[in-house]
Amino acid sequence: MSDQPTPDSKDWTWVLDSVCDECGQDVRGLEPHLIAGLVRDSVPRFAAALRRPGAGTRPSPQAWSPLEYCAHVGDMYEVMDRRLELILGQDEPTFANWDQDEAAVRHDYAAQSPRLVVERLRATAESFAVTLDTMRGAQHERKGFRSNGSVFTAATLARYAWHDAAHHLHDIGA
Ligand SMILES: [Zn+2]
Repeated sequence: MSDQPTPDSKDWTWVLDSVCDECGQDVRGLEPHLIAGLVRDSVPRFAAALRRPGAGTRPSPQAWSPLEYCAHVGDMYEVMDRRLELILGQDEPTFANWDQDEAAVRHDYAAQSPRLVVERLRATAESFAVTLDTMRGAQHERKGFRSNGSVFTAATLARYAWHDAAHHLHDIGA
């Protein structure tokens, strides 16, 4: 896996407490119903980036191409939707581990069809947004744990997921 860029190998939970100095996003205090709208609005932005010439080409060996980022975000929305449903449905669940770099290799992001990548992104974004839309009041504070022990609430999970998408929109200049 040494030829894979590793944009997500570090722990990004600090973005819940401060402005991201790379993409400028400030997700602190962002309400889940607003995130639902942002998630939906991200789909045409990613889709437009995939229509640009060279969307399947990595700008450098260490950076994913727009196509790979879109495929990643499509998967990420699905994983976060599943985690959110667990938080809402169970008391203090522990999430299954998600190795993002391993997923990129296993699903061969670079070889996927841009049309199918956008279709999948649209479907997983909508499903995640619907789950975000259903959250009410005290549900925002329900807790879940990542396998490394990091604790999330439903609200911080939503913020974390949105930062990931926004950061990659920044990465690809969308
Ligand atoms: Zn960022």
